[in-house]
Amino acid sequence: MRPTPLIRAADLRRRVRHLGAELAREYSARPPIILALMDGAFCFAADLCRAIPLEGVELQFRRAASYRDGTEPGRLELEPLGDLAGEHVLVVDDIIDSGLTLAAVVAAAHAARAESVATCVLLDKPGRRRPGGLPRADHVGFAIPDLFVVGYGLDHQGRWRHLPDVCVLPDPG
Ligand code: 5GP
Ligand code: MG
Repeated sequence: MRPTPLIRAADLRRRVRHLGAELAREYSARPPIILALMDGAFCFAADLCRAIPLEGVELQFRRAASYRDGTEPGRLELEPLGDLAGEHVLVVDDIIDSGLTLAAVVAAAHAARAESVATCVLLDKPGRRRPGGLPRADHVGFAIPDLFVVGYGLDHQGRWRHLPDVCVLPDPG
């Protein structure tokens, strides 16, 4: 089935610009390490970091793969974060769904001795949180209904990441 656009590229661009300005205000006195979760956040993180006009921003990338059974969250594999002592960490992901991924990454960043940890996601499915999941991200691009989306970095079985719009994939299976 073909993906149908939910959020167009022009709207993504506008919202990412606003998020960048919001983050620049918040982090003006303490430039963050942006910890971008691969692979899904690659488009969002690339655009977001260029919308934060601060000196001293650092970018790091870590793979966070949740082995899903269809649309059900599964076991999470997260690359080690290393030592983050004294750092202000901004975790950037494509989407918060059950919240389990971000809860695990935030806990790992605290365990790595980060001074502060905040989260920024492009998309939020607020109706899908699970017990133990992060209740809310600190910065959210768009809240969306409980639909499976692809494009702008998000995939289904490795496909559709390159679509410029966020699209709904009917019956992802
Ligand atoms: P959570 O741990 O919050 O359940 O899920 C976070 C991860 O699940 C995201 O980083 C993303 O990889 C995946 N995910 C959740 N919902 C969707 C969706 O609608 N489409 C795609 N492509 N991935 C999703
Ligand atoms: Mg992901």
